[in-house]
Amino acid sequence: MPMSSLLEQLIDALRVLPGVGQKSAQRMAYHVLERDRAGGARLAAALASAVERVGHCVRCRDFSETEVCATCASAGRDAHQLCVVESPADRLAIEQATGYRGLYFVLQGRLSPLDGVGPRELGLDTLAARLAEGEVQELIVATNPTVEGEATAHYLAQLARQHKVRPSRLAHGVPLGGELEYVDRGTLSHAFGSRSEME
Ligand SMILES: [Zn+2]
Repeated sequence: MPMSSLLEQLIDALRVLPGVGQKSAQRMAYHVLERDRAGGARLAAALASAVERVGHCVRCRDFSETEVCATCASAGRDAHQLCVVESPADRLAIEQATGYRGLYFVLQGRLSPLDGVGPRELGLDTLAARLAEGEVQELIVATNPTVEGEATAHYLAQLARQHKVRPSRLAHGVPLGGELEYVDRGTLSHAFGSRSEME
């Protein structure tokens, strides 16, 4: 089999991005080579550095270049509230839409036994240890309203109660099946503000 050309390798590499098929990848590759080689070089450098240097915060599991991220390290955040989200994008959505000043815990997924994603893969042992520290009083469960998200929420509520922490859930109004990050700010802000204790 002949080695593929550099152009073919570039098109193939671009397809790792979500939503990018063969046609889009070709268009991107031609665009960079025909019109914006400097931009392409900047993209390549930024990708290489990010992949190499962005890790996870040991406290909240969000993306971070440092061992403890800026939010977790901030003295201005309320350590009595801990909001659990599925993804860094969900965390950002809440941070931008609400006036929340507590801390976060990012699962980087949701419970999905069939895909081999259990409590350990989501760092729930870390979360349990965090709750055992005794500082958290309210665990705000902000998983998505999908079947797996709800199962995860149920598990988190049990974990909270085991540590005498009050679990709360965002009010309904966040559309069913809608991913948190796509909900508009007003709706998210309202759902977050009128959360209630989980049964
Ligand atoms: Zn952190």
